[in-house]
Amino acid sequence: MQTEKVRVRFAPSPTGPLHMGGVRTALFNYLFAKKHNGTFVLRIEDTDMQRYVPGAEQYITEALNWCGITPDEGVLPDGTIATEPCPHHPFAPYRQSERKDLYSQYARQLVSQGHAYYAFDTPEELESYRREAESRGETFIYNFAFRNRTANSLNMTAAEVAHRRKESNNWVIRFKIPENQTILMNDMIRGEVSVQSGTLDDKVLWKAHDGLPTYHLANIVDDCLMEITHVIRGEEWLPSLPLHYMLYDAFGWQKKRPMFAHLPLLLKPDGKGKLSKRDGDRLGFPVFPLEWTSTSGEKSRGYREDGYYPEAFINLIALLGWNPGTEQEIFTLEELIEAFSLDRVTRSGARFNPEKARWFNQQYLRTRSDTRLVQDFLPVLQKKGIATTPLKAEQVVSLIKHRASFVHEFWDLSYYFFIPPSDYDPSYYKKAWKPGTPGILRQARDILAGCAPFDIPSIDKALHQWMEKEQLKTGQVMNALRLCIVGKPQGPGMAEIMAVVGKEDTLVRLDQALNKL
Ligand code: GLU
Repeated sequence: MQTEKVRVRFAPSPTGPLHMGGVRTALFNYLFAKKHNGTFVLRIEDTDMQRYVPGAEQYITEALNWCGITPDEGVLPDGTIATEPCPHHPFAPYRQSERKDLYSQYARQLVSQGHAYYAFDTPEELESYRREAESRGETFIYNFAFRNRTANSLNMTAAEVAHRRKESNNWVIRFKIPENQTILMNDMIRGEVSVQSGTLDDKVLWKAHDGLPTYHLANIVDDCLMEITHVIRGEEWLPSLPLHYMLYDAFGWQKKRPMFAHLPLLLKPDGKGKLSKRDGDRLGFPVFPLEWTSTSGEKSRGYREDGYYPEAFINLIALLGWNPGTEQEIFTLEELIEAFSLDRVTRSGARFNPEKARWFNQQYLRTRSDTRLVQDFLPVLQKKGIATTPLKAEQVVSLIKHRASFVHEFWDLSYYFFIPPSDYDPSYYKKAWKPGTPGILRQARDILAGCAPFDIPSIDKALHQWMEKEQLKTGQVMNALRLCIVGKPQGPGMAEIMAVVGKEDTLVRLDQALNKL
């Protein structure tokens, strides 16, 4: 039974735009928090200054907002990251670069307790050790065997260490991984996992040259200080879990250690390998929630700009690696909260299907009222220079919406309602235009001219009575009318089209075709 209040965090590094996988991590954290009446915290892990990308942080908060999964804590209503503690954001600042001074004391604490040490090897030295190991066909591991041979505080006198630390700031604090220990871990999705400590590197925790912690130290310290109860993150962090367990032990924070859940990878549509940031542009679908322009001016597509509804986007990513255990596929955010549980998250990678993504949007489009769709469509028409009435736009929308997955597809599906054909599809012409066609069309013109009101039932009735009387085949007449009024074999029934186009324009189009063809 859960007694403590659930607190989860989404802890992205602002190294670029959030990828769909990142949004899914945020979503699962959000769902888990809401399901358990908990708190969803946002923390910006920006301690790697070399990988910092300006604008990425704002992108993250904007993307979460667009998706409707705004964090409860860490971000202010204006979208900026909380920097001062207050009742709502008690652990501020939530940007790690602003917590910089805090981490060194924890790193030093580990050194003084014998869990970490000062290491003085330079990047050049390390590189040459690495190459040496490779030349012997081995993988370089910075472990107990290695640290016995190099310059570090474990092999030096206190005076020497003090001297080396003063001499330059080219040193780091490394975690001292135990020689031979089995680390037993528990993952809420994968169950028990165990690792032998001898296979692990003494990871860097803190660097003197920039006075900054590495991800591992800052992440553990902040999860503990921010009272995080569950860490839900991508599978790529599973290899870091043993170190994180050992850090909790070294700090004596076993009781504060959160539960961990590592989410399965998102795979490419063919299932071969991880879905990468580059795949979207290569395979023709967005991998980012919002459009992104890199500093070099390179643009990447976004779901928002591609015309996806945020509800559809959230729905489709929720089902990447989680299933409700039923056939249900369409979920509102509230339904997702209700249905979500970590024990229905899969262990194997989730293959992304771009076709299915479009299908989700189509489902949401179909539930939109015509009035709402018209609101979105009118600006498109305006841009095209089409003057129309909301009534006509609504009639058009109701006729074509079931063929579209996105509002931006409406124009291609409906332009002929607004503009007469400028040319006629040659192969359709061959099919629809027979020697008797002009005569038939002239008669049809008279029938239509006499049709009042000019609506679907009376157009249908008038045409059918006349075709019956003259013993004309429906196909013969309708194809000819379609050729004249639409120009190609496209669109709903002819009575529907003509009723919306209106009597006057229908007759003009017929005359124009009879003149031209
Ligand atoms: N800063 C890490 C990232 O960018 C966070 C990983 C974690 O959640 O522990 O994904």
